[in-house]
Amino acid sequence: MHRPALSVVIPCYNEAKCLDLLHARVAAAARTAVGDDHEIVLVNDGSRDDSWPVMQSIAAADPRVVAINLSRNHGHQLALTAGLDLCAGAQILIIDADLQDPPELLSDMRATMAREAADVVYAVRRRRQGETIFKKATAAAFYRVLDRVTDTPIPLDTGDFRLMSRRALDAFLSLPEQARFIRGMVAWVGFRQVPFPYDRAERHAGETNYPLGKMIGLAFDAVTGFSTAPLRWASHVGLALTALSLLLVVYIVIGWFSGTTVAGWTSTMLVTVILGAVQMFVLGMIGEYLGRLYIESKRRPLYLVADVAGPVQGTATLGFRSADPDPAPTIEERAATEAQLL
Ligand code: UDP
Ligand code: MG
Repeated sequence: MHRPALSVVIPCYNEAKCLDLLHARVAAAARTAVGDDHEIVLVNDGSRDDSWPVMQSIAAADPRVVAINLSRNHGHQLALTAGLDLCAGAQILIIDADLQDPPELLSDMRATMAREAADVVYAVRRRRQGETIFKKATAAAFYRVLDRVTDTPIPLDTGDFRLMSRRALDAFLSLPEQARFIRGMVAWVGFRQVPFPYDRAERHAGETNYPLGKMIGLAFDAVTGFSTAPLRWASHVGLALTALSLLLVVYIVIGWFSGTTVAGWTSTMLVTVILGAVQMFVLGMIGEYLGRLYIESKRRPLYLVADVAGPVQGTATLGFRSADPDPAPTIEERAATEAQLL
């Protein structure tokens, strides 16, 4: 199998009006960066417009274009996963189809990658044009809340626009989870990741495919995928309630001794207060186990090795140790690596 120097992976949903200009600009940027040794992977995510026929004609005219048509709309993150699974490049550029992320930045991103010896160069939005105040505000709030609750540091104001090395992509592809929040998963993979500030342009044509409902869905995937904090909150509340109920118990018992309470109040209050605290606490315990079960069920690799010095006898290095663009693993090899990881 031939491994091109660069793959550009582009998920597309109802982007027929963008595709021709997208192809022209991406192909020109790729040629400037690596010459002819590149591929452009277009993923049609069940578009309802003419995206697929347009992609087919682009692929017919340019042998460097691979277009795939998903069976239905699977959503941005899964469409992107399909493209990443398929691509073979030694470096991989992920970019949106609507030209909000300028493909011309590719050469600078590659230069940053080489200069910093980085495995991931992620584009950070300095400014966003042509987007509503509401979208910008909700996006800004989202990234900040996410940063607070997650255990993995996920860069702020960063979409999926990024350049990755093959080993970073292979490591990413070894995460088998179903609910995929790609920018978080890439952050989780580690290696050296450096920011690349840029100004986000307006959409070339069409309108956003991320209305509020989908953004909330993505936010949920992000928070639940990278944090079990919400589950833990029940145990914190349980502990606080237990402390509070101890005070209440003292108050209730004093009331009983002083004989100022109505008959039956003391026992009713005691039962209510103690049961409430115990229930919250038990819910929290269940949450802790559920959280651990959830983390286990994702079956992520336990660790990834970036580099090795000295001879290695065992199998612990999992094949991610080399930054060389060696042949892409076949599906069988990938399955074997995954089996090793488990
Ligand atoms: N997209 C997709 N499937 C979807 C929704 C979006 O493949 O169900 C693609 C879309 O074509 C674009 C990228 O994901 O290339 C980002 O979507 P969009 O530009 O609508 O999001 P925004 O930039 O407004 O957040
Ligand atoms: Mg967009």
